[in-house]
Amino acid sequence: MILINLLLALAFAQTTAQPLTPDNQPSEPFRIADRVYYVGSSDIASYLITTRDGHILIDAGYESTAPQIEANIAKLGFKIRDVKILLNTQAHYDHAAGFARLKQVTGAQLMISERDAPVIEAGGKGDFVLTDAKYQFPPVRVDRRLRDGDQVRLGEATLTARLTPGHTKGCTTWTFDANDRGRSYKVVVLCGLTILEGTNVSGMPEYPTIQSDYERTFEVLKRMPVDIFLGAHAGYYGGQEKARKLRENPEGPNPFVDPDGFRSFVNSAEKRFRDQLNRR
Ligand SMILES: [Zn+2]
Repeated sequence: MILINLLLALAFAQTTAQPLTPDNQPSEPFRIADRVYYVGSSDIASYLITTRDGHILIDAGYESTAPQIEANIAKLGFKIRDVKILLNTQAHYDHAAGFARLKQVTGAQLMISERDAPVIEAGGKGDFVLTDAKYQFPPVRVDRRLRDGDQVRLGEATLTARLTPGHTKGCTTWTFDANDRGRSYKVVVLCGLTILEGTNVSGMPEYPTIQSDYERTFEVLKRMPVDIFLGAHAGYYGGQEKARKLRENPEGPNPFVDPDGFRSFVNSAEKRFRDQLNRR
């Protein structure tokens, strides 16, 4: 009987397990600066900020990224139960689907921007462009709703939430200071500026203020002080290449310090936004 159950369980696991997408392949965790680590998958980013009073985790990935994040935190020698605060860049399934599991295994407080919180609590329902059921994920209760400029403090860490809406209505870019080799750097975890298919940036019934939101987002980002450029996807800033560079030359300059990379990323996104506006 036990054997039959085991065989059934195996068969079930085989038919339900989704193969991991190319952006979600297991990745080695890596250090970015003192107390700042990448713990995500190949492209789906997740950041651990450690403090003497516990840790902060930014982004939870897909449902199948969450166990990878847990494994990466353990690999770095930290305890998943020491994660006290969960933060998010954007309420999309590739960055938020893992929160239900991670909240359960950590017991942490989930803090989400006011305008993304309803989408997180509805498991992805209510997004203005990702409306298909395949983009839904396990809903999870939000413990604190954040406004532009709100600070999140834990131990010696202070993170500031900057609202950079457009990609989602509550798209949140995180800023904080971190040290590396005795120098202090301004770290930015960029939410995202990708205009998804089906988006009309001049305005749409589901998101009438999208154009003015994007205009303000570009203004905020262009004025933002940046040394270390991070984002919701490692691909935004060539994270895996920079990690390789650092492994090969650990005494060299920190490749994550890349203010020019940030400026050119924001400028290209703004150009795509203006191009779409001009086509209409
Ligand atoms: Zn997204």
